Amino acid sequence: MNEEPLLSVQGLEKHFPVTKGLLKRQVGAVRAVDGISFDVKKGETLGLVGESGCGKTTTGRLITRLIEPTGGKILFEGNDITHMSQGRMRPLRRDVQIIFQDPYSSLNPRHTVGAIVGAPFRIQGIKTEQGTKKAVQEILELVGLNPEHYNRYPHEFSGGQRQRIGIARTLALKPKLIIADEPVSALDVSIQAQVVNLLEDLQSELDLTYVVIAHDLSVVRHISDRVAVMYLGKIVEIADRKGLYESPMHPYTNALLSAVPIPDPKRRKERERIRLQGDVPSPLNPPPACRFHTRCWKAQEICKQVEPPLETLAPGHQVACHFPENAPSGGAAAAPQQTAAAPAD
Ligand code: SF4
Repeated sequence: MNEEPLLSVQGLEKHFPVTKGLLKRQVGAVRAVDGISFDVKKGETLGLVGESGCGKTTTGRLITRLIEPTGGKILFEGNDITHMSQGRMRPLRRDVQIIFQDPYSSLNPRHTVGAIVGAPFRIQGIKTEQGTKKAVQEILELVGLNPEHYNRYPHEFSGGQRQRIGIARTLALKPKLIIADEPVSALDVSIQAQVVNLLEDLQSELDLTYVVIAHDLSVVRHISDRVAVMYLGKIVEIADRKGLYESPMHPYTNALLSAVPIPDPKRRKERERIRLQGDVPSPLNPPPACRFHTRCWKAQEICKQVEPPLETLAPGHQVACHFPENAPSGGAAAAPQQTAAAPAD
C-alpha cells in the first residue's frame, strides 16, 4: 500500500453560529467538529464511527466541500483544498464523491436510472448521449444491476438496488476517494452485507479509497483498515482494525463495542454490556476538559479539568484519555473498577 496520504485532515473545525433576535446577534456556536486530524492513505478504508451528533457526517461534508470549514486544513493529494474556489474545485469534484445515507430520498423519483447515473457525464460535458448510455450501462453491470433497466425509475427498485444506483452514480467519473455516509444504515440487515461486499469488490477493482461513516462499530469492522471513533466533535481513539476491536483503549470505544451484537449465545452471555448513563451532551455547550467525563465510569477530578491529548500509546494507536484501558504501559491496571457495567441482555 502506498504510504503517501491521499487525504490529510489537519485540525479541522466546523462551528455553526447560533443567533438571536432580529439583528441575528451571535450568542454561541454549535461545535460540530472541533479540531480533528487524520490521514487516509491511497487504497485504504477509514471507518469514522460515533453516536448521532458526534460530527461524523459534518466531517464527510467538509471533506467533500459541501460546507465550508471554520478552521483547519484539508489536503487532497498534497494540495490544500480548504478554501479552494468552486471553479478550481470543479475538476476535483470528479475525484471526491459521496454516497448518501438514504437511497430513498437521495434519488430523484422523476428521473430514470439512466438520467441519474449519467448526470455527472452530462454536467461535466465529457461524453455524447450515445457514449453516456454505454458508460452508464457498463457501470450498472459493475454494481450488479441489469443494464436493461436503464429507463426504469427508482420506485421500481428495492432498497438495496437503490443504494446500488447511488453507488453507480458516484463511480461515473472514476473517483479516487469516496465518502460513504452511513451507506447501509437505511437497509435491511439481510441486504447490508451485500452492499458492504460490493463496496469491497469495487475498491479492489477500481483502486478506490474510502471514508466509511457509521454509528455502529459492527458495520465498519469488515471493511475498515483503520477506525476513528468520534465523540462530541473530537476524535477520541484511532487505530488499525485489530488494535481497535481487540484492544480498545478509550472507555467510549469499549462502550460502543459492548453494544455490538454477538451471534454466539454462549459468548453473548459471558460479555459485560456497558450501559452509558445519560444522553450525549449538547455540542452547543460541551463539557469542559474530557467531553466524555459526564458519562464515563472512570472519570476522576483531572478529567474535568484537563483535556486529554490524543496520544500514541501503541504503534498506530492513538487515544485521548487520562486512564486508558489495555494500554501497554499498564494504564488500565491503574484505572479504577468499572461501575456502570451491567450484564448483557
Ligand atoms: Fe473517562 Fe477520564 Fe478517560 Fe475521559 S479522560 S474517557 S473521563 S477516564
